Amino acid sequence: MNTQTEIHFINRSGWLRAAVLGANDGILSTTSLAIGIAAASDSRNPIVLAALAGVVAGALSMAAGEYVSVSSQSDIEISDLEREKKELLEMPEDELAELTEIYIQRGLTAELAKEVALQLTAHNALEAHARDELGINEITQAKPFQAAMASVPA
Ligand SMILES: [Zn+2]
Repeated sequence: MNTQTEIHFINRSGWLRAAVLGANDGILSTTSLAIGIAAASDSRNPIVLAALAGVVAGALSMAAGEYVSVSSQSDIEISDLEREKKELLEMPEDELAELTEIYIQRGLTAELAKEVALQLTAHNALEAHARDELGINEITQAKPFQAAMASVPA
């Protein structure tokens, strides 16, 4: 079980959660409106309105799903890399242990995994984590990578 992967997933769902919560706000206010009208009236028409509210809520959920699906993979990768960079600065020992664990899971002995992790960390820690932890292979050169990082808003 790689808890780090879970943390990354939680991280990347932050903006996703914002989108879904935004949709939920819409659902809540529409539904509240329908309920409010239903309570204030003896007519059966408000029930139709409530049903309509359900349709609107469904449409909002679909809109949120669409928003999520069209958002680019590179945005996710950049935010993962940005997080990784931060983690490497703030807790390098945890990150080294994490990398070691990844190599153990891939079949290396604990000793060799530690050595590989140490050497790759010394060579280019962020690149090693991007490739072996996040599965981001495209970024192999430092310069375009740094350019990408520099363009990330804090
Ligand atoms: Zn890492």
